[in-house]
Amino acid sequence: MKDDIEKIAQPEKITLPQMLDFYPLEDEKNTRISQFFQNLKMGHLTTTKCKSCRSVLWPPRVVCSNCMSDDLEWVNLGTEGELYAFTEMKAGAPLGFEKDLPFCIGLVKIGGLLLSSRIDGVRYEDLKIGQKVQLKVVELENDGRVFYRFKV
Ligand SMILES: [Zn+2]
Repeated sequence: MKDDIEKIAQPEKITLPQMLDFYPLEDEKNTRISQFFQNLKMGHLTTTKCKSCRSVLWPPRVVCSNCMSDDLEWVNLGTEGELYAFTEMKAGAPLGFEKDLPFCIGLVKIGGLLLSSRIDGVRYEDLKIGQKVQLKVVELENDGRVFYRFKV
């Protein structure tokens, strides 16, 4: 019995994940909104819009949260938003992002929606309400997953 136990080397260093996300959620096998991530990889920030009641839904959904229709279409939100509110994160960053502290986060008005996001390329002191911000697509180097931020 003792001979059946496989011995493996203990890693010298354990690298924490960039995001606290243990599942490949962007894959179409794992999510019905994989189109969102495919669009983002092409540089397009998109969401779903209900063909029945015309509601623009955020985050992207497979069923309309307003009228329960599943007849949805993808719409492009564009690449330029407007800063609605902002703050600076100085502590308590998500796992793997501690080295980025301090960084700016904000609410961005885009396509009639308010999205929360990191705001890159600017210091907190230089941000202004109403300032234009541009879409920034970020890819995790470990596995190619993408997400969005905005930049000044
Ligand atoms: Zn609807």
